[in-house]
Amino acid sequence: MEKVVIIRYAEIHLKGKNRGYFEHVFSMNLEKSLKGIRHELHRTSGRWLVAGFPEALAEEVAARIGKVFGVHSYSIGYLVDSDLGAVYDCVKLVAPEEGSFKVVTHRGYKKYPLTSMEISAEIGGRLLSDRPQLRVDVHEPEHTVYIDIRDGGSALVFGSFGEGAGGMPVGTSGKGLLMISGGIDSPVAGYMMAKRGLIVELLHFHSYPYTNEGAKEKVAELAKILSAYTQVRLLRTVSVTHIQEEIHAKCKAEFNVTLLRRFMFRIAERIAERAGAGCLVTGESLGQVASQTLEGLTSSNAVVKLPVLRPLVGFDKDEIILRAKKIGTYDTSVLPYEDCCTVFLPEFPATRPKLAAVEAEEAKLDVEALIEESLATVERITF
Ligand code: ATP
Ligand code: MG
Repeated sequence: MEKVVIIRYAEIHLKGKNRGYFEHVFSMNLEKSLKGIRHELHRTSGRWLVAGFPEALAEEVAARIGKVFGVHSYSIGYLVDSDLGAVYDCVKLVAPEEGSFKVVTHRGYKKYPLTSMEISAEIGGRLLSDRPQLRVDVHEPEHTVYIDIRDGGSALVFGSFGEGAGGMPVGTSGKGLLMISGGIDSPVAGYMMAKRGLIVELLHFHSYPYTNEGAKEKVAELAKILSAYTQVRLLRTVSVTHIQEEIHAKCKAEFNVTLLRRFMFRIAERIAERAGAGCLVTGESLGQVASQTLEGLTSSNAVVKLPVLRPLVGFDKDEIILRAKKIGTYDTSVLPYEDCCTVFLPEFPATRPKLAAVEAEEAKLDVEALIEESLATVERITF
């Protein structure tokens, strides 16, 4: 017998003619997620199997698989010869000692000498006589033991299902550039778009020396957590310090944030184009703060051609926090470091900036030169 992780996939079967491509990308993502762990990945009828890993790493393998988009569910189980004695040896490993249970058998190999019902009855009977604390309940069992008889004389035995990340394999929907702050929202936005198959590359704006190295490290940590889902191990950072200083020196304070955001979008678009990304992604949510009013979003959108995806636009903060906790970014996001937006934050930011007024303020700046200066500061952090 061999310990394996059984993988069932989610939406891939919907994709008709493209199915082969989707499955190829999915396999590659599974491989990437298991980097550093010896293993073999097998495609079998309707599912994937990870085998050949050190037994002690089964939980780690399963945890990594559970974060790959496209995975509907997964189970840690055993691959074994399909004769009943061998199957029963595995069943003993996954079955409980007490409580109620049932055995569910699926017989992919139709020539097997027993029917599914007969296998379940036989295995259930053996368990009952070996473990007197158990009882059968076919309607609402506390535990279920699954047996899957496969073509070629083997069987899979497992006892539970882990919930997969769902969604579509990353890479099947093109590439985007996530503007990632150190806050709660943008990592969740990145997660959501990766879940829809987008390769999510990362860009962070800093205002060093107004913001310190700690702020950058925090974002790098968030990037690392996200990479378990996205497999992207690169974070680009770029400085907007001189832009903030120039805006502060020349423009009306109430427009500080609006103007800075227009620069961020422009710079992001330039970097996206270089990286071959077809869209920008932000963690904005309608009405959440002064710059996220319809007028605020309009003013940012006006300076870029690429589509801006805002998967959180209709979410309440509470809902975003719940997701951040679920994906594991929350605890890092709430660490206290300053974001560049807060450095020159005016007391009363314009909540409904009229585009014409914004453009009039912006005319006081050499926009192109400021962008070029930023682009010269791009750094790449890999992990
Ligand atoms: P977040 O929790 O993601 O920081 P927020 O609610 O604090 O969002 P803002 O600070 O207004 O809202 O930022 C809105 C969006 O702009 C962020 O979700 C992110 O996509 C982008 N953004 C803000 N600051 C930065 C930054 N320093 N670097 C990169 N992107 C940023
Ligand atoms: Mg923020």
